[in-house]
Amino acid sequence: MAIDPVIETGDSMPAINILDCPKKMFRWTRQQQANGELVGVVPTMGALHEGHLSLVEAARARCEKVVVTIFVNPTQFGPNEDYERYPRTLQKDVGLLSDLGVDCVFAPSKEDMYPQGSSTTVAPPAVATKLEGECRPEHFGGVCTIVLKLLQIIPADLACFGQKDFQQALVIRNMVRDLNLPTQVAICPIKREPDGLAMSSRNVYLDAGERKRALSLVQALRQVPEAIGQGIKDTGLIETRMKEFLRPFVDRIDYAVVVDSETLECLEAVDRTVVGLIAAYIGKTRLIDNCVVSVAGETDLLIESNH
Ligand code: AMP
Repeated sequence: MAIDPVIETGDSMPAINILDCPKKMFRWTRQQQANGELVGVVPTMGALHEGHLSLVEAARARCEKVVVTIFVNPTQFGPNEDYERYPRTLQKDVGLLSDLGVDCVFAPSKEDMYPQGSSTTVAPPAVATKLEGECRPEHFGGVCTIVLKLLQIIPADLACFGQKDFQQALVIRNMVRDLNLPTQVAICPIKREPDGLAMSSRNVYLDAGERKRALSLVQALRQVPEAIGQGIKDTGLIETRMKEFLRPFVDRIDYAVVVDSETLECLEAVDRTVVGLIAAYIGKTRLIDNCVVSVAGETDLLIESNH
């Protein structure tokens, strides 16, 4: 979609830069840093919602300049996934970002990011092999490759990712550590709808009935702190509870697990901080959600204080 490279945002707000050229984007970033300003980047696939905007605010709180990238990355979609129909709302996204005072949007084309003949990819870290890695074998290779490329083009001081994609955030954090990238990674809380559904660009696929059934993910996750709070330590038992809760509402469960929150290793008992992770289909839409719970049952799943 063609958009103006610079959008005027009114008298008080400076114009937002819209770049698609990797070289110009790199120069822009270096220029800000040469001026002594910290640059924060928020990588996204667009179709922005308040979850994405909360990452922008987190970046803004810690950096003078904020860049948002918008790129629907083909290499992280499997052959039968929703790459073609993924929502693309660039003009609207740019409007939202310019209202928030974002300094620059990087919206490259497929050819800008994957020039003809490009064949180098990143082998993801070990934490990528489980869960999403088993269900979507190509996914994290595509994610790591695009995020590394984006962080080369935008050598930002800080990159903000969402806990919504919990395993992805761990994969990226570990890749950045393993490859000695200079960018600091921040993992920001999940933004939820008032009823608790985790915000997602894919929620637009849900019809009214499916939207109601989708609430079962967060409701099943609530079983985790509840069980731990009751003194139940057996992860198998908690996973059974989650699955039993989900079954009447979802069409397929890819996984519903309680695992170590750092390594995603299976545990027999809750003896450290764990994460409950669910991936399930509502109709044709695959949704994911998670909650982190300490051994004492303290959790980030506080819907009321989370929106
Ligand atoms: P996406 O456009 O879906 O690739 O997401 C871009 C970034 O936004 C990723 O770091 C996501 O984890 C993050 N994100 C997506 N949904 C939410 C949400 N509900 N709350 C917070 N961050 C989110």
